[in-house]
Amino acid sequence: MRLVLLGAPGSGKGTQAARLKDHLQVPHISTGDLLRAEVAAGSKLGLEAKEIMASGNLVSDEILLGMLEDRFSRDDTKGGFILDGYPRNLAQAAALDQLLQRIGQPMDYAVQLEVPTEMLVERIAGRAKAEGRADDSPESVRRRLQVYNDQTAPVVDFYRQHGQLTVVNGVGSLDDVFTRIVEALAPAKEVG
Ligand code: ADP
Repeated sequence: MRLVLLGAPGSGKGTQAARLKDHLQVPHISTGDLLRAEVAAGSKLGLEAKEIMASGNLVSDEILLGMLEDRFSRDDTKGGFILDGYPRNLAQAAALDQLLQRIGQPMDYAVQLEVPTEMLVERIAGRAKAEGRADDSPESVRRRLQVYNDQTAPVVDFYRQHGQLTVVNGVGSLDDVFTRIVEALAPAKEVG
């Protein structure tokens, strides 16, 4: 199954993607993780991305598309994938659509995790304490939420217009949210 998870920072995409990966037996592709790995490795790309990420802004579409093309060229994605963190704007959504058409693997499902803003802020503050991510500072969090509302929210409509969108309530225990996602995907699994 080819699946993309949509949702604001703190909506639980990463956590749910990690569980879905085991359930569906397909790789979890997180563009945030791919970028953080580049930063940790100190690559040229990582050096370019580091400050942009810490500020809460988006890394260039060109860099992201290159990274994704590279990732999708690996054999483990042939049986499907869970994409998390991409697309983050309409240009990325269109580029992804083209890329997937080109490799003959169109998206089956876009799942949006819906969580109210106050709860997002609370969750990220909790994670900041536990993990100390460079972009979890209050200023960066504000910027990330703003970028989400301005640039990423329209991507939800893109998938709605393509008839691929499923909205899932992201409030509740991790188990509850996971069950809701799996139920939302059930019809697709039956058709194959
Ligand atoms: P979150 O969903 O919690 O905001 P991610 O781990 O998905 O965190 O992303 C962290 C940062 O990595 C983003 O704020 C952005 O700077 C960069 N990034 C990740 N994915 C993309 C993307 N598709 N386009 C541009 N920048 C991205």
